[in-house]
Amino acid sequence: MPGTERVDLVLRSTRAVTPEGERPAAVAVSGERIAAVLPYDARLPRDARVVDLGDDALLPGLVDTHVHVNDPGRTEWEGFDTATRAAAAGGVTTIIDMPLNSIPPTTTVDALHVKRRTAQAKAHVDVGFWGGAVPGNVKDLRPLHDAGVFGFKCFLLHSGVDEFPQLDPAQLADALGEIAGFGGLLIVHAEDPHLIDDAPPAAGRRYADFLASRPRAAENTAIEGLIALARRMNARVHILHLSSSDALPLIAAARREGVRITVESCPHYLTLKAEEIPEGATEFKCCPPIREAGNQDALWGGLADGTIDCVVSDHSPSTADLKNFDTGDFGTAWGGISSLQLGLPAMWTEARRRGHTLADVVRWMSTAPAALAGLPAKGAIEAGRDADFAVLAPDETFTVDPVALHHRNRVTAYAGRTLTGVVRATWLRGRLIADHGVTTSPAGRLLQRP
Ligand SMILES: [Zn+2]
Repeated sequence: MPGTERVDLVLRSTRAVTPEGERPAAVAVSGERIAAVLPYDARLPRDARVVDLGDDALLPGLVDTHVHVNDPGRTEWEGFDTATRAAAAGGVTTIIDMPLNSIPPTTTVDALHVKRRTAQAKAHVDVGFWGGAVPGNVKDLRPLHDAGVFGFKCFLLHSGVDEFPQLDPAQLADALGEIAGFGGLLIVHAEDPHLIDDAPPAAGRRYADFLASRPRAAENTAIEGLIALARRMNARVHILHLSSSDALPLIAAARREGVRITVESCPHYLTLKAEEIPEGATEFKCCPPIREAGNQDALWGGLADGTIDCVVSDHSPSTADLKNFDTGDFGTAWGGISSLQLGLPAMWTEARRRGHTLADVVRWMSTAPAALAGLPAKGAIEAGRDADFAVLAPDETFTVDPVALHHRNRVTAYAGRTLTGVVRATWLRGRLIADHGVTTSPAGRLLQRP
């Protein structure tokens, strides 16, 4: 055995996904950390617990940097207990909570303390927090950064909740200037408010009408503006939930000239298609919207060529009544898709069909999000990192039954879909936290920007 650390646990798999790719390996764990990644048939210390996974794949635990937990304040929508249970059952070992939809929103240090106190005893996985940039809180950004938030979210148009207002262009520049001054990260819901105002308003049961109300141009224009601002200020920005594939060339060109911009997309944009959404099926409503099949193909092109860095859930649940299932009206239904527990199988099903590997999925859903947030202990099966793992049966299929989900509200756009890839178990810092969907007592920790 390399090193002198005592090995408590060894996980062996013929399909371990390491930074060198997928291969047979024995992963030795000492306490909460990975001690070494050894050959599959390496001689193991006699007193270590050995878990042989056979042909089940051993992945690093997923890192989901886009989760709306809504706790406290809208715990009837979700909550730290239910959200982190769902994460654990879905192979996600780290979440970063979004600053809005909870009350208070995370726009001051006091509010951050409220959120941390709320999450503390309920976290089944590790939990970090984004701060929020809203009108009038520029002076709060540095203290929030110092208190450990991973970056700051802002909107350029109405966020959906009144207590988290959007920034106008002058306020955006002020916030970004402040954040760049301390080397922070601004993460942006990028849709242009004027182009949304000019589009036909969403109303009624037809998905096509809703789609027309959130045109691609709104995303493209907002992203173009952000690129210009990031370039001018030499600031670091991240585009949340990219849906419009038209923006990919802009982003790729900006990167080539050295603009510090990263991008995420979400499982729903990559696996669900506008053409297949039934009338009145508001469980598919989110903003920006799920677009057409051709757009989805282009997004996969952006993943393949590296323009899109991360795939994260944007898990944004609400109570069922806010989804207007009685009328099917897309206009006033809550916009948000619940998928925290389903992201890995949803993505693996489609990735595999398109010829991608588990190593690709791990890069998009674990390594890159960990790098985005700046979590050096997460995101890879490598000596020294946290012993966070997802065990996936990659060839097994299941049909999504909302009742089997840990989300507080069992409304999901994936209901009834057959997905490939069953999460068998999840380990957090060397401890089994979910086994065949059954979670243990909370073992998560609250994370701060290192
Ligand atoms: Zn979101």
